[in-house]
Amino acid sequence: MPDLSCLFCRIVQRTLPAQIVTEDDELLAFKDINPQAPTHLLIIPKRHLATVSELTAESAPLMAKGMLLADRLAKQAGIAESGYRVVINCGAGAGQSVFHIHLHLLGGRLMRWPPG
Ligand code: 5GP
Ligand code: ZN
Repeated sequence: MPDLSCLFCRIVQRTLPAQIVTEDDELLAFKDINPQAPTHLLIIPKRHLATVSELTAESAPLMAKGMLLADRLAKQAGIAESGYRVVINCGAGAGQSVFHIHLHLLGGRLMRWPPG
């Protein structure tokens, strides 16, 4: 069930505009509104799952599909060879601010380690 108080469910429902890059039956990819790198996309499952901690054996394959999509989009954006980063923040203490699970795909600049 979509949670209409959830920003990303609203993007899935098209009641909140976003620059959508691609979608399939299960996943949606769109540009981050506050990009932290020249390429900064968010990849989400269309169904509402709040955090990694909510994943089950049944829903976890969505995240594997999200990784495959991240790599495909990185290649499309021309950032795969120079290197890219996929980030999932789980919980407020890790920096999660939208509680609909998402992968950040970041690239197009040098990525340093450790992250902040
Ligand atoms: P988090 O901090 O939860 O890991 O990441 C949430 C991300 O969502 C942030 O990078 C933030 O810029 C992005 N974001 C928040 N609200 C919106 C929105 O309404 N539209 C889009 N496209 N991105 C958003
Ligand atoms: Zn949601």
